Amino acid sequence: MLGLMQQQSLLISALIEFANRHHADGEVVSRRVEGDIHRYTWADVANRSRKVANALDRLKLAHGDRVATIAWNGYRHLELYFGVSGSGRVLHTLNPRLHPDQVVWIANHAEDQVVCFDMTFLPLVQAVQARCTSVKHWVALCDKDKLPANSGISNLLSYEDLLAGESGTYDWPDLDENTASSMCYTSGTTGHPKAALYSHRSTLLHAYAAALPDVMCISARDSILPVVPMFHVNAWGIPYSAAMTGSKLVFPGPGMDGKSVYELIEAEKVTFAAGVPTVWQMLLGHMKPANLRFSTLKRTVIGGSACPPAMIDSFRDDFGVDVLHAWGMTEMSPLGTLCTLKNKHLELPAEAQMKLRMKQGRSIFGVDMKIVNEAGKELPHDGKTYGDLLVKGPWIIREYFKQEGPSPLVEGWFPTGDVATIDEDGFMQITDRSKDVIKSGGEWISSIDIENIAMAHPAVAMAACIGMAHPKWDERPIVCVVKKSDSTLTSQELLKFYEGKTAKWQIPDDVVFVEAIPLGATGKMLKTKLREQLAGYQLPSI
Ligand code: ADP
Repeated sequence: MLGLMQQQSLLISALIEFANRHHADGEVVSRRVEGDIHRYTWADVANRSRKVANALDRLKLAHGDRVATIAWNGYRHLELYFGVSGSGRVLHTLNPRLHPDQVVWIANHAEDQVVCFDMTFLPLVQAVQARCTSVKHWVALCDKDKLPANSGISNLLSYEDLLAGESGTYDWPDLDENTASSMCYTSGTTGHPKAALYSHRSTLLHAYAAALPDVMCISARDSILPVVPMFHVNAWGIPYSAAMTGSKLVFPGPGMDGKSVYELIEAEKVTFAAGVPTVWQMLLGHMKPANLRFSTLKRTVIGGSACPPAMIDSFRDDFGVDVLHAWGMTEMSPLGTLCTLKNKHLELPAEAQMKLRMKQGRSIFGVDMKIVNEAGKELPHDGKTYGDLLVKGPWIIREYFKQEGPSPLVEGWFPTGDVATIDEDGFMQITDRSKDVIKSGGEWISSIDIENIAMAHPAVAMAACIGMAHPKWDERPIVCVVKKSDSTLTSQELLKFYEGKTAKWQIPDDVVFVEAIPLGATGKMLKTKLREQLAGYQLPSI
């Protein structure tokens, strides 16, 4: 028997119309590439999103056509989020930190018809445009009078000029909720990047979930600063959840340094911020020496890479800010787990609570998880046994865009490539990417554990643990460390620091001091590159 409820597709256009109707005066504040602060309201976002939709109609873009962005977090980018997807086109957020050759490959693979870019990225666009064969229009996100005279780009339009003649009313199409809405390519550290193609339905379900109290706890009373880029997995879905709840949005534009982020948090009374650990490192690095304090910030979500426990401690103890550790993937829209404690854990001593907080967290409703051994057999949730982590749910990919070969799913589950434990309460903890796992004498050593201990040393700015081939033990860990600028730390001192903090056989065989640890386009450590840099290195124990 069918239920007797109204049939209504879950559509992105409904989000912006809801924000317009119920939170019309809600603020959206952006630090612009132009250098100034821009402020307007959700009603303005809605009005200009409709203009975007009208402009795309005028450019004769069909439903399903891809409109790419190469842009910072800002209000124009937000309008494209709603205008492009809402009108039935697919928003393709391109990562400007990628190598130009990769940008070309991705734009051609996606068959982008239009590319909208911030002026910061003009040199990148100039370097790639002749090779992006499907692109019909390049749209600079600026006023007409800011367009460069001799850019060498054919079909260059100004975004403001494009919108100027358009009407602010639009009849959003009533799409099937499974229609594609946006896409994002994975970082592609091995082989070509692959794209997750999100749908209206997956985006809306994810937006509901992201706003839940045990997830990001987003409400109309929040002022949210997504430092996590809108060019990477839709800024973890925050723009959609913000429209759904009518919260204030604050965009940092190109100003991701500690000083700019701090000033924006204070000026715009930010209550909640989200980003990868490296961004917060810069922020705390700016605040600590100057003895600065937050007046409104209450919580931050940190994910994308393992959050060092020392950072969680510092945020809470020095600044009174709660850190929520999060885990996800491009293929998962991206949220999978958030680390919030259950009632019974509030009674635990501080140290036991801390042990839980550093885990990647519990499943959000909508994400089912399991760990399996090499034979695919499901492993117990005992907090000790580790295995390959598999996930399933309505905002997790079924296959990649233009998938070649068989589906990545294993009996309906998506293999994450992460190795993890899950405890009795459902808290998942990642020990490694499967390709980074270190196997010593038949036992696994978690490189994240080794890195976290090093990061807790006050003289360490960044640490990466990798396995080195060893004739007796197969592999032994070493830790590559970037020292803080004024530090005199020696290898021996750091190795001594490990004593008592982990099992003896897990202590790295060596500390290698490096100038920098290579980072990928999404701020993650590139261990493959680090290994290349260490070619010729010899373990001291051999
Ligand atoms: P994103 O950068 O949005 O997390 P990617 O698809 O680029 O998405 O990377 C996903 C991978 O990043 C995960 O499979 C995992 O290895 C790693 N990752 C993400 N969050 C965490 C975290 N909190 N702790 C450890 N690793 C993480």
